[in-house]
Amino acid sequence: MIVYEKKYDVIVVGAGHAGCEAALAAARIGVSTLLLTINLDAIALMSCNPAIGGLAKGHLVKEIDALGGEMGRNIDATGIQFRVLNTRKGPAVRASRAQADKQQYRLRMKTVLEQQDNLDLKQVEVTALHLDGGAVVGVDTRGGVRFLGKTVILTTGTFMRGLIHIGLVHYPGGRAGDLPSVGLSERLVDYGFDVGRLKTGTPARLDGRTIDFNKLEPQYGDERPVPFSFSTEKIEQPQVPCHIAYTNEKSHEIIRSGLDRSPLYAGIIEGIGPRYCPSIEDKVVRFPDKERHQTFIEPEGRDTVEVYPSGMSTSLPIDIQWAFYRSIEGLERVEIMRPAYAIEYDYVNPIQLHASLETKLVPNLYHAGQINGTSGYEEAAAQGLMAGINAALRVQGKDPLVLGRHEAYIGVMIDDLVTLGTKEPYRMFTSRAEYRLLLREDNADLRLREKGHEVGLVPEETYKGFLVKKECIENELVRLSKERLTPSAAGEELLAEWDLVGMQNAISYEHLLRRPDFTCEDLSRIYPEIMELPEAVREQLEIQIKYQGYINRQLEQVERAVKLEHAKIPADMDYLSIPGLSTEVREKLDRFRPDTLGQASRIPGITPAGITILSIALKARG
Ligand code: FAD
Repeated sequence: MIVYEKKYDVIVVGAGHAGCEAALAAARIGVSTLLLTINLDAIALMSCNPAIGGLAKGHLVKEIDALGGEMGRNIDATGIQFRVLNTRKGPAVRASRAQADKQQYRLRMKTVLEQQDNLDLKQVEVTALHLDGGAVVGVDTRGGVRFLGKTVILTTGTFMRGLIHIGLVHYPGGRAGDLPSVGLSERLVDYGFDVGRLKTGTPARLDGRTIDFNKLEPQYGDERPVPFSFSTEKIEQPQVPCHIAYTNEKSHEIIRSGLDRSPLYAGIIEGIGPRYCPSIEDKVVRFPDKERHQTFIEPEGRDTVEVYPSGMSTSLPIDIQWAFYRSIEGLERVEIMRPAYAIEYDYVNPIQLHASLETKLVPNLYHAGQINGTSGYEEAAAQGLMAGINAALRVQGKDPLVLGRHEAYIGVMIDDLVTLGTKEPYRMFTSRAEYRLLLREDNADLRLREKGHEVGLVPEETYKGFLVKKECIENELVRLSKERLTPSAAGEELLAEWDLVGMQNAISYEHLLRRPDFTCEDLSRIYPEIMELPEAVREQLEIQIKYQGYINRQLEQVERAVKLEHAKIPADMDYLSIPGLSTEVREKLDRFRPDTLGQASRIPGITPAGITILSIALKARG
C-alpha cells in the first residue's frame, strides 16, 4: 500500500446523504476531513424518490438544519414543489415535504462540499480499515493507496455486497448504474461485527412524454411554499405539479401473473425489506380486496422528462413491468427509461454502536446511515451529521454530543437503533417519539440551535438572529400574560363576537389566545402591534400558549426519564454476576451492554424491577 502524504483528522467513507452531512459537519467544526467515495458524480444522489421530508422525516430535516447541517438549505435551493402535510392536525404531526430537482440537488451539494474549507474529496473505493492496537487509524483502497486518519466514519448505504434484482435476473451493484462495494463488509465480519442482509426496492423511471397527463389528476404544491431551513427567507423558484394515477384490476392481474418470476416470492431474495414501504406486488398480494392503488407521478426535475411513480416499486421481470405500468389509465403508451429493481445489501447491527455512533468494537470508528439498518435520506443525513460532529469532537478531545429522546427525533432514532438494534429497515415515524408535543418541526431551532452553536456548527451571525427570535418570544409571552382585556375597553360588539358577553373581570391576552380557534390575527383587533412580530414568532406564541397544559405534562415525564439517562453504566459491568436478576435478564443486558440505565430500561423484557436491581448493583460498585 502506498501511504498518502497528508494525514486527516476525520475520514468519511461514502458521499450519500449521511456522508455529505458527516464530512461537512467535521470540516465546519474545523478538523481536517477527507471524503472518499466510489463515484464523485453521484454525490448526494437520490437513489429512490426525488423528494425530501414527509411525516417525521420533515422533523429530521428541520433538526439537521437547526444543528447546522446542509440538507434543509439544499432542498430549499433545489426543490420544485413544497407542501406542508397535516395542516389540519395538531402542530406535533405537521410535516414539510418537497419534491426535488434530483440533479440540481446533487450538483448543489457537490458544490457546497467543494467550497468547504478543511475538506478534500477523492474518488476511490475503500476495501478495508487499517487498525493499530485494535483502533482504526486509516483505510485501504482498491487503488492501493492507504489514507491515514484519527477517526473513520463508514456511510456505505446500499453498496456493501449490493445485489440488484430484476425478476430472476440479478447482478452486483451499489444501486442502478453504480458499482457495489466489495470486500469491506467481509473485513467488518473479521473484526467481529454482526453483518446482516436487508433489501429495498424502487419503481421504474418513466418517460413523461409518453404519459397522457390530461387523464390524470394534478396535485399542486402550497400556494406559499414554506422553506425547510430556518435560514431560508423565501422559496423563489416556481413550482411544478405532480399527478395522481391509479392501478386497476387489470394491473393486479398482470402483477399476479408474474409472481412466479418475482425474486421475492421465488425465495431468491434473503434480505428483509421495509414493511411500511411495500412493493406493488406485496400490496396486491397482501390486500387482495383492494380495487386500486394510488400513485403520485412525481417529476424528477425541471430539465428532464423522467418521472417517478411513487409507491410502485417492484422487482418483477421487465416484461411484467412494461405490461403493468401500461395498464394504468393515462400510462397506456408509457415507455420505461429505467427499470424498477430491488437491491439486497449488507448492514451492521447498530446495537454494536454507542449513542455517539462510535462502534463498541473498534475505537474511533463510526457508522452512519443505511449501514446502520435505516432507510431514507433524512434518517441517513441525521446520523451522518451526528457522526461527523462526534468524530470531530473526539479529535478535539471533547465529550460527544448525544441528543436525548426528549430533545430530538434524531435522539429517538439513534437511541432506538443502539438500544434495540434492527432486523428490518428502520424509518422514522412520529409514533416512535414519546414526547411528540415537545419535538415539533416548528420549534426545532429552539430545541437545537444552541447545541449546534456550542459544537461550532452554527455560524455566529445565524446564532445571533436566533437569539433575537428567542428573546422576542420570551418577552412576548410575558407581555401576553400581563396585558388584559377589560369589559369596558372591549365594547359590546367585540364582546358579543368573541362570546364574552357578561364578562365580569378582565382577562389576559394569553387567556384569549388559549381558545382553540383564536389567532394572533384575532388578537390584533385589540393589540395591533402583534402583527408586526415575525410570523415565526407569532406561530410560537399560538402553539406554546394553546398547548401549554400538554407541554407541561410532557416536561414532567421528561424530568423523571432524564434521571435514568444520566445514570451511566461502566463499559466493563459484569451483568452475569448481579444477584437477584433472572438469567434471561442478565444475558440480555450482557448482550445489549447499555451505556445508561435509561437505555437498559428500553430493552424489551427488562422490567422496572430489573432496573431497580441494576441501579442498586451500580451504587454498590460506587
Ligand atoms: P447512500 O445514499 O446509499 O450512499 C452511500 C455512499 O457510499 C455512495 O456515495 C457510495 O458511492 C459510497 N460508498 C459505498 N461503499 C463505499 C466504499 N467501499 N468506498 C467508498 N465509497 C463507498 N429510502 C426510503 O426512504 N424509501 C425507499 O423506498 C427507498 N428505496 C430505495 C430503493 C433503492 C433501490 C435504493 C438503492 C435505495 C432506497 N432507499 C429508500 C434508501 C435511500 O436511498 C437511502 O436510505 C439513503 O440514500 C441512504 O443514505 P446513505 O448516505 O446511508 O447511503
